[in-house]
Amino acid sequence: MRVLVTGGAGYIGSHTLLELMAQGHDVCVLDNYSNATPEVLNRVRGLSNGNVTDFTGDVRDPAILNRVMQDFRPEAVIHFAGLKAVGESEEKPLLYYDVNVGGTLALLHAMDRVGCKNIIFSSSATVYGEPVYLPYDEAHPTAPMSVYGQSKLMAENILTNWAKATAGTSAVLLRYFNPVGAHHSAKIGEDPKDIPNNLMPFIAQVAVGKRDALTVFGEDYDTPDGTGLRDYIHVVDLARAHVAAINYADKSTGARPFNIGTGQSYSVRDMVAAFERACGSPIKTKQAPRRAGDIAAMQADASRAAAELGWTAEHGLDDMTASTWAWQSANPNGYDN
Ligand code: NAD
Ligand code: UDP
Repeated sequence: MRVLVTGGAGYIGSHTLLELMAQGHDVCVLDNYSNATPEVLNRVRGLSNGNVTDFTGDVRDPAILNRVMQDFRPEAVIHFAGLKAVGESEEKPLLYYDVNVGGTLALLHAMDRVGCKNIIFSSSATVYGEPVYLPYDEAHPTAPMSVYGQSKLMAENILTNWAKATAGTSAVLLRYFNPVGAHHSAKIGEDPKDIPNNLMPFIAQVAVGKRDALTVFGEDYDTPDGTGLRDYIHVVDLARAHVAAINYADKSTGARPFNIGTGQSYSVRDMVAAFERACGSPIKTKQAPRRAGDIAAMQADASRAAAELGWTAEHGLDDMTASTWAWQSANPNGYDN
């Protein structure tokens, strides 16, 4: 199938390109490189020996969208392009709504103009908010606690309304839990531009000597060791969920959300210990109060994805930390080597 991948030069997008090409799909990327570098696509091309068509531009721009749609004629779209920093979303709400909601709207308009009927959307477990029960299933109430989460839920609602109103269309809403890890080649991985907001890239930068110590945000949660619990998922498993979703969308109509996680959760302390096993040296930590907006525990019930997409996560915790370490130690400065 011809698959347009918006934000395909990003962390999850780049891994998904490789999995799509491995399954014989033709891919095309639209990215504005606001959080990526074109070097990513060079590496993807090298790893796949495949053809990656790419366009540089903003997903909110109808002119570039029209060009992509007309030149590439996608049969399906995977929509990764967006902004993802929770803290920044509180400071710049209009920017987040503009890119995440406006970008989704512009893309759907462009798809409609050429009759492209299938879309896979990068949503997030953050749409659920404070757990009423755990693990979250897809019927759990949605009450996002940040502008970022609100923007994802708004985009989900737009996609749901579009799929209902537009005959023959399918919108697959993938609610990711916590993506971590890197491709086994160690050629592509997560490369945060500034100080990492997320746990795993921060630990990796401490391990490689770029940062002094990990700040553990809160050790007084109601969890076995007092630190926050999350459902971490290997980015290659997550990438494969998109390939499964493409196949599902081809055979279904309407909109449907799916949790994409492992169904297991680990604490901050578990992650530090696993990383120490992977890199063979201690990770220095320091304590700090809870981070504003954090919740104690998150965990996916991923049984719908197993039953309907035929997808389950295959990589365990040690694969996640070992692949992160392999990528970080081979590329201490990320793609700026
Ligand atoms: P990323 O920042 O690495 O990738 C996003 C890509 O989109 C980047 O290459 C960036 O340059 C591009 N982009 C941003 N704004 C754009 C615009 N206006 N036009 C065109 N391109 C644009 O992030 P990621 O971790 O790969 O996340 C991909 C998607 O998954 C995002 O929508 C994010 O919200 C969602 N998501 C990520 C996580 C996570 O923890 N990484 C969790 C849940 C959901
Ligand atoms: N965390 C931490 N120090 C950091 C970054 C994160 O202790 O520098 C904790 C955070 O409080 C949470 C877990 O690690 O309990 C995962 O945080 P992350 O930001 O990676 O994901 P999210 O909060 O989006 O689930």
